[in-house]
Amino acid sequence: MKICLVNHNERYAVCEIAMAYFPRTKFEDADTVPECGDYVVSELAYDGSIYSYITILSYNGEVRTNTVTSKEYNKTYFKQSFHTIAKELIGGFLPWGVLTGIRPGKIARELMEQGMSESQVKDKFLDFYLTTPKKAELAIEVAKNEMQTLSNIDKDAVSLYVGIPFCPTRCLYCSFTSQSIKFTSKFVEPYLEALYKEIEYTAAKLRETPYHIETIYIGGGTPTSLTHTQLDGLIKKMYAEFDLRRIKEFSVEAGRPDTITREKLQVLRENNISRISINPQTANDKTLKVIGRNHTVKEFEESYALAMDCGLTNINTDIIAGLPGESVDDFMNTLDCIERLNPTNVTVHTMSIKRSSFLAQEYDAYSVTSAEAVNSMLDASYDRMKSMGKIPYYMYRQKNMLGNLENVGYCDEGFENLYNIYIMEEVQSIVALGTGASSKIVKGSEINRVFNVKDVYEYITRHDEMLKRKDQIFM
Ligand code: SF4
Repeated sequence: MKICLVNHNERYAVCEIAMAYFPRTKFEDADTVPECGDYVVSELAYDGSIYSYITILSYNGEVRTNTVTSKEYNKTYFKQSFHTIAKELIGGFLPWGVLTGIRPGKIARELMEQGMSESQVKDKFLDFYLTTPKKAELAIEVAKNEMQTLSNIDKDAVSLYVGIPFCPTRCLYCSFTSQSIKFTSKFVEPYLEALYKEIEYTAAKLRETPYHIETIYIGGGTPTSLTHTQLDGLIKKMYAEFDLRRIKEFSVEAGRPDTITREKLQVLRENNISRISINPQTANDKTLKVIGRNHTVKEFEESYALAMDCGLTNINTDIIAGLPGESVDDFMNTLDCIERLNPTNVTVHTMSIKRSSFLAQEYDAYSVTSAEAVNSMLDASYDRMKSMGKIPYYMYRQKNMLGNLENVGYCDEGFENLYNIYIMEEVQSIVALGTGASSKIVKGSEINRVFNVKDVYEYITRHDEMLKRKDQIFM
């Protein structure tokens, strides 16, 4: 599809909303207004007091125009204009309206912190961002819960992330740097060796600062892909190098049930891990096969019971709405399974078709759920979590999510995962180690990011460079 901008340069804003209507479409710049074919023209006019945001959309032989006017200049009006015309011309379903950013909760929180009442924030979501009332209320509820947690944030602290880029198999939708351990087992020990060096270097650097560590998250990948001895060695290394006396939370992803053993769970328990994740994604065996996960629902339930038996009672379970081939009934079955276990945390994700995933490469081979159906699943999960007494406490969105919908973390009150809130709300620096790690250094409203390489082999062979990159964090 061609895109032509006239009198402005807000290509990113226009493309963001256009992508929501035309996913997987490539937008090619046109210098002049195209004469035929599918195209978008986005124009800005100003008569000295009023801005006019004009969109011309040509699609499948039909051409429509829309104009939004305002006394102020704001790129959101380009989106409003596009959204209005696209909805009219091609239909579509975007409950978040023109809100295309990653953190709708952050917007609601900032508006409330600026002094807006809840009803003013809701009006802003409805009238300016064109969301549905339900999404506006969700954003406000998440923001209020976050504000409560953030009122206790430790200003002299940082959080730590450690990535373990190995998994038993690669899930259909995965876009992480994770590798199947079956083919990469020879890299595990060299990887840990390089990671230990990064841990030592970072710990030494941190000791020179006034900061202490508030939370740790070992993610990936699936850290429990390591053997119990390797896992124990890694956690003990962290205790040995970092001063963890003031730590409030230590989370480990035990995401894949097919990696979990009693020995590994005991290692986590003995090392005082305060929260783990065991992720079924779905409680339907047929879907687990489709998405390439090497375990059954029964194995998930057994792993969960084993963790509880080992004394690991603060458990998160991730589930996904909109997995290929799943109906609303299938998703309700997953909710029933989660309700029976009643974990302290449940994270409900929306299916996202990421470019680097197998799913994106073989898109046509799978039946992708409609945005309306996914939204019904999300609504059902909200109602179910509420009836289980859980609160939505963090929320985020990613690119290419079905219907531009959301991921929501629910928990029993008092079981909020601080790390998740800090990383989403960008209120505390995160020092990240391992492949694909992205450190975020928060200094007031300024955020600097420092990245490690994504590839395991590169990480091992270029570890000196990864250490030097850490210097940028502590400048
Ligand atoms: S468990 Fe997570 S990191 Fe591992 S392959 Fe699946 S989606 Fe990727």
